[in-house]
Amino acid sequence: YEAKNSRDGVRSYVPDARAGGGDRLRTMEDLRTALDEGQLLVHLQPQVALHGRAVVGVEALVRWQHPERGLLSPAVVLPAAEQAGLMRPLTGVVLGLALEAAAQWWPERAVPVSVNLSAASVTDLELPATVIRHLQEHGLPPEALTLELVEDTLMADPDRGRTVLGELRRLGIRTSIDDYGTGYSSLAYLRHLPADELKLDRSLTHDVGRDDRATAIVRHTVGLAHDLGLSLVAEGVEDEETAAALAALGCDIAQGWAIARPMPVVDFLGWLADRPAAPSRTPAVPAPRRP
Ligand code: C2E
Ligand code: MG
Ligand code: MG
Ligand code: MG
Repeated sequence: YEAKNSRDGVRSYVPDARAGGGDRLRTMEDLRTALDEGQLLVHLQPQVALHGRAVVGVEALVRWQHPERGLLSPAVVLPAAEQAGLMRPLTGVVLGLALEAAAQWWPERAVPVSVNLSAASVTDLELPATVIRHLQEHGLPPEALTLELVEDTLMADPDRGRTVLGELRRLGIRTSIDDYGTGYSSLAYLRHLPADELKLDRSLTHDVGRDDRATAIVRHTVGLAHDLGLSLVAEGVEDEETAAALAALGCDIAQGWAIARPMPVVDFLGWLADRPAAPSRTPAVPAPRRP
């Protein structure tokens, strides 16, 4: 193919018939523009404690407000970024957006924001420095950020990934293993990966209380997570029945439609304002004793 991209934004494409990728190429070129012109945004989805429903975290999920195609999901954005070699810049943009949002509620509400890392970012030796720069820019401490990764992203270069994650954790940033229960070597990774949290994959969450095998796996994963000192977040909690089943198994935290859909930042600010703060570990004003 041949792609011409002029400075004044006029683009012309000569798609190669053999590649058959006119649309894909177009999307990749558009994404470059999107990164430069601020067309990417994040939607925020809360995470709550299953007991008491205090807000304990929020995940930032990338969206692309495309000038012609409307709001596009990660299913479009991520493959385009991958193919265009733009994963690292994308992570940088999402980090900036997520922390800019968190700065609006931190420190009044100590709700950390989670950002998803691609394989390219997990193995980026510059990532810890990039993260610190973004935190400083928004006046946030390291505990305001959690970084999520799926096990498979480490497969290409596990040693480098461990180095990067270890460094992030030394800096005080929490790390989370996303989509847990879908990878190929979950237990081996668990043993060696520097992580603070597991996120139980939606496919397991969905069948809790419905399917004996899924329920047994979740019950044991809860025990495993706790024995390893990790917190466990169930993702994709779509109804109260599932939330109740998870709570009965000892799962700490839930994220999903039963609590809230991912929403624009401004909507999340309103949502958060309506919710009780998590009980503070060291209350500034001791609660009055009641007889
Ligand atoms: P994920 O990190 O596992 O995020 C959860 C996904 O499940 C989100 O999809 C969310 O909208 C969806 N979800 C949440 N609650 C429910 C529920 O109750 N039921 C169902 N059926 N779905 C629910 P989304 O936003 O389309 O993101 C898809 C994936 O794209 C994410 O999965 C994550 O792996 C990836 N992703 C999203 N944003 C980024 C990003 O900024 N960078 C990178 N590298 N990956 C991202
Ligand atoms: Mg995630
Ligand atoms: Mg997930
Ligand atoms: Mg998932």
